[in-house]
Amino acid sequence: MRGAVLYAPGDVRVEDRPDPVIVEPTDAVIRLSATCVCGSDLWPYRGVEKLDGAAPMGHEYVGVVEEVGSQVTTIRPGQFVVGSFWASDNTCEICRAGYQSGCVHRVLMGSIGTQSELARIPLADGTLVATPGMPDADLVPSLLAASDVLGTGWFGAVAAAAGPGKTVVVVGDGAVGLCGILAAGQLGAERVIAMSRHAPRQELARRFGATDIVTERGDEGVARIKELTGGLGAHSVIEAVGTQESMTQAIRSTRPGGYVGFVGVSHDVALQGDELFFSLVHLHGGPAPVRQYLPELIGLICDRKIDPGQVFDLTLPLDQAAEGYRAMDERRAIKALLLP
Ligand SMILES: [Zn+2]
Repeated sequence: MRGAVLYAPGDVRVEDRPDPVIVEPTDAVIRLSATCVCGSDLWPYRGVEKLDGAAPMGHEYVGVVEEVGSQVTTIRPGQFVVGSFWASDNTCEICRAGYQSGCVHRVLMGSIGTQSELARIPLADGTLVATPGMPDADLVPSLLAASDVLGTGWFGAVAAAAGPGKTVVVVGDGAVGLCGILAAGQLGAERVIAMSRHAPRQELARRFGATDIVTERGDEGVARIKELTGGLGAHSVIEAVGTQESMTQAIRSTRPGGYVGFVGVSHDVALQGDELFFSLVHLHGGPAPVRQYLPELIGLICDRKIDPGQVFDLTLPLDQAAEGYRAMDERRAIKALLLP
């Protein structure tokens, strides 16, 4: 099969990789209908995250089940399925509490690499959710978005306690931040303030339900949020970048008693204890338990209530994955969809 491999910063190649096979009796093998490049793939692509030799890439996936292991009972060949970037059993105590990304048996899908024609999915019964029948082709990008960016934005909004009567600020205008805007609206937020300085992203933020746009950053951005919230700060802030600047901006934009949902993959973020102490904010975040939200998100997408697939503004054949990485790295594209 063909699959993307990162050899060194800036060097992604699509090459022949061995076809996956059933290894554990709980595995499935799927044929991907679509896959994509994640903002988090840019960390190793840019050399910020060190590479330990050539690495298969990709952790977002939707596709049709080809084969299942002998202990798989609910997932069947021929089903169209969506899974998350953590494979999880969905039965352990952590999973049952809704934190499948912390499953005691979790497997990181990025270690398998799903920017490929086929992929082995561990713990298939727990990891995969089948759609009701074969989805229309135009729904595939949205279902793919559910695999990571929508589920992650959704968790950010839930962790930030977005809901009726709340003012929600979203720090970060990448695909996760944009999906966080959509999620906050779906959860009933009264006002959703997007922090973005890029016109095409501002436009998509508005389409996803942003009521206000703030272009200032850092201290100026915080001052603007205070101005818009009667000097108090927001009830809920979704942090969807993962840098010191974005995390600081998120905490300082939150009112005492408010909630920060942080879902940007954290890189060299250090929090100052005394500032945190006196901020009186709730902090909750981490790798999103996307699996928890998949049944609901698949329902909303199949009923055409939400259209998160709009985050894909570039579609390429899998063989041109390198161009997808370049376009996202140079911020020419929000998110690149790859067709195997
Ligand atoms: Zn588990």
